[in-house]
Amino acid sequence: MNLLDTIAAVSTPYGKGGVALIRISGDSAIEIADRVFAARSGKRLCECEHAKMVYGEIYMPDDRDRHTGIDDVMAVVFRAPHSFTGEETVEISCHGGILVTKKVLSAVLLAGARAAQAGEFTRRAYVSGKLKLTEAESLGDLLEARSESQLALARGGMKGRLSKKMSELYERLRSVLTSIYAVIDFPDEDLSEMSREEMEMHLCEIRDGVEALKATYGTGGAVSEGIPTVICGRTNAGKSSVYNRILGYDAAIVTDVEGTTRDVLRETAIVGKATLLLSDTAGLRDTDDKVESIGIERSIREIEGAELILAVFDASREPTEDDAMLCERIAESGKPSVALLNKSDLGVEPSAKLVELCARFSRTVSVSAATGDGFDELSKVIDDMFIDGDIDMENDAVVTGARQYSALCSCCELLLRAISDMRAGMSLDACCVGVECAMSALGEVDGREIGEEIVAEIFSHFCVGK
Ligand code: GDP
Repeated sequence: MNLLDTIAAVSTPYGKGGVALIRISGDSAIEIADRVFAARSGKRLCECEHAKMVYGEIYMPDDRDRHTGIDDVMAVVFRAPHSFTGEETVEISCHGGILVTKKVLSAVLLAGARAAQAGEFTRRAYVSGKLKLTEAESLGDLLEARSESQLALARGGMKGRLSKKMSELYERLRSVLTSIYAVIDFPDEDLSEMSREEMEMHLCEIRDGVEALKATYGTGGAVSEGIPTVICGRTNAGKSSVYNRILGYDAAIVTDVEGTTRDVLRETAIVGKATLLLSDTAGLRDTDDKVESIGIERSIREIEGAELILAVFDASREPTEDDAMLCERIAESGKPSVALLNKSDLGVEPSAKLVELCARFSRTVSVSAATGDGFDELSKVIDDMFIDGDIDMENDAVVTGARQYSALCSCCELLLRAISDMRAGMSLDACCVGVECAMSALGEVDGREIGEEIVAEIFSHFCVGK
């Protein structure tokens, strides 16, 4: 991908709409737009003011006499570096018909622009320093946001809540490193601004800061990425009914025929502030049916891969050996789990044996998938388990992605080692390497020090035109 080309794309979604926006960015953006745009005023775009809308018409670039117009449009010029990408940019708002939008884009491409790849505008904003990597990731999250909490987190990230915190920690680490270099390079002169004790103290405080950020990922990840959640239980306990109730529509087939759900079904649901990556599984029971057995095998694998287990029991019935076996498995996994005592609408008190089995779960909630009773309580329980109520999603620095979290974990480990080396009286030369690596790990979070491949991977998830 050549970042020096001038690129263009339709930035609004494909389809019929009132208006469509075509964005052109790069050194030749204004020149290219001038080849296709004729302002009513007769002014060329290169003479127009920054960020001011100009009314005019679009023509094919080879229509020298400007004989056959394609569409009446509004064009705006944003001069570098005061644009989203930091480059010369022109935005053309045309009528939002599919064919007319296509024709305006074709004119721009024929005039010399290259079709932009997915996320290329945002990538340019990152390369030109207009956006930190965490801010670009938050922008991606904003486009995907489906819940108020996801939106608040994305907005906070775009405002630079996380990147500012990262910069503070990074600069503090840099000043410790500068002091270490001063001692190493000029051992006989007193150039360092910090004593060895002060260096150690700063490293401890920086590590505490990184730990505090890491701790926000429990909430940030649960809201932004979602919690892999499995719904499991004995066949006919009401798993598919619970799955449908949480989703709010009938995604799974519900019957009283045992073994109806055979393959694993997956959907995303917003429950309270958390996002659940839900899977509905085949019921656990002994069976000779080959297809159902494979389904059961898959259910067991899902339980192993989940971070939250919702185990459904038919509260109107005595638990069976299958129920006991499931509880055993869940307890062994040590994962957060909720026992759902389903069919509460039948008014049957759960047996003492079932209550005893449920004691092995993190929480128990009585529900009715038939009437919806108990599901508000389930939302509260999940929020309680995964969301830190003290976090202000929009105004605090919150870690929202696995990539950011894993770089912070490496940074913490490296700092811990450097601190213990210092305490063990090792030379500053030896400690220095650990501090340098910790700084690189920290720099990975907001993209100061990051490989091209990772950057390409991050931006490939954006849509074309963003
Ligand atoms: P699964 O095999 O565990 O997925 O169970 P299903 O969701 O397919 O439900 C099995 C049967 O139980 C169906 O006949 C459902 O209508 C019934 N059922 C599920 N949930 C409830 C509930 O909350 N109350 C009552 N009364 N019946 C339910």
